[in-house]
Amino acid sequence: MTLKKYILKNLWLQVVISLSIGLFIGVLLGGDAGVGLDDESLDFVTSYLSIPASIFLSLIYMIIVPLIFTSIVIAITSLGSTDKLKTLGLGVGVYFVISTVIAITVAVLLVSAVSPGSLLDISVLTESFDLTKEEVKVKEGFALDDIPNAVGNIIPKNPVSSYLEGQMLSILIFAMIVGLSMAALPRESVKPLLDVLESIQKITIHILLFSMKIVPFAVFGLIVGMVSKVGISSMVGMGAYMGTVVLGLGIMVLVYMLIIKFVAKRSITSTFSKMRNPQTLAFSTGSSMATMPITLKTADDDLKIDPRVSKFVIPFGTTVNMDGTALYQVIAVFFLAQLFSIELSFISILVIIITTLLASIGTPAIPGAGVIVLSTILVTVGIPPIGIILLISVDRILDMTRTMVNVTGDLTASCVFDKITQEKTG
Ligand code: ASP
Repeated sequence: MTLKKYILKNLWLQVVISLSIGLFIGVLLGGDAGVGLDDESLDFVTSYLSIPASIFLSLIYMIIVPLIFTSIVIAITSLGSTDKLKTLGLGVGVYFVISTVIAITVAVLLVSAVSPGSLLDISVLTESFDLTKEEVKVKEGFALDDIPNAVGNIIPKNPVSSYLEGQMLSILIFAMIVGLSMAALPRESVKPLLDVLESIQKITIHILLFSMKIVPFAVFGLIVGMVSKVGISSMVGMGAYMGTVVLGLGIMVLVYMLIIKFVAKRSITSTFSKMRNPQTLAFSTGSSMATMPITLKTADDDLKIDPRVSKFVIPFGTTVNMDGTALYQVIAVFFLAQLFSIELSFISILVIIITTLLASIGTPAIPGAGVIVLSTILVTVGIPPIGIILLISVDRILDMTRTMVNVTGDLTASCVFDKITQEKTG
């Protein structure tokens, strides 16, 4: 394959290239290198360069609700598809929720301790994207007395108005209720709707993949704007953010080791060495879906998991259990909140936790999906969507790492349920 073809085939490489060119041009246009444009011309240039970012964000907001809604309903419906697995299904579902909550807790503690967002100045983004005071306003926190009211409001009385008003958490809860009901009904009764939802999901993923082609241009525009106006130092905080995500993912791997040792009662070293193939593939493809055949093979052939367990846990886990993604999304939201000086009250944090839990279930297992689905959580907390472009510029390496953690989480779960079924039958 020629270099040109290789670049055209790999979006992440295009993003890395546009990031590097953007840094260079930004330095060139800005005051630092001495070829500086005056402020007025710089504003003019960067406002034009921000067009791809605006187009990309509009496309994402156009599809995000149907995409995440259909993904959640389809994933939960599959839980009820095999009758004899109904009991195992419930246990696995509960386990996935617990492991995701652990991942989210690690993320909240870590990002609050490190606070990577405070290393980057908010003016970086407001200046380069001319965000008004309104867009970057500090969201009013909820008080404890608001809880009873909030709980009632989360369950949508009118899902259509929740959709129109962009109340993401209510939409996610609606999706969960529909999914659970569809799982409980016989297949024939839900098949027509399931077919429609699957078709909507495919169409929205297609639009998503198509819109991703704009990302290199969006990243270029954002980086030129930031670096030319604020200087190369504007990128320093990004390093701290990336470090925090990687550290959090490392802690999650330690959690899996403990689960393997104390719950699945297997040797940590030999189990982890057998997971190497799917882990490497997940890291290189950035997609747990693309890795699934190898994950399944490793579970059956190397980890010697009961095939009845692996054939259920691995496909189900690939679609709903994304601990790495959930951990990443929480760190990203806190990072952006810190960046925009948006103070998160206790209740807002609780809302982020629940939204992330559901959003990670609704994240398609394809490269880069986690950062797109992040938009749902941002809407809930009132963070300007432009933050997503900033995160996408450095997402590839984080995507690879969190996908590896997602796959490791699914394999760990299958070891746990292999042990549980052995104990039950043995
Ligand atoms: N790439 C991830 C996966 O396939 C999803 C994500 O972007 O977080 O597991």
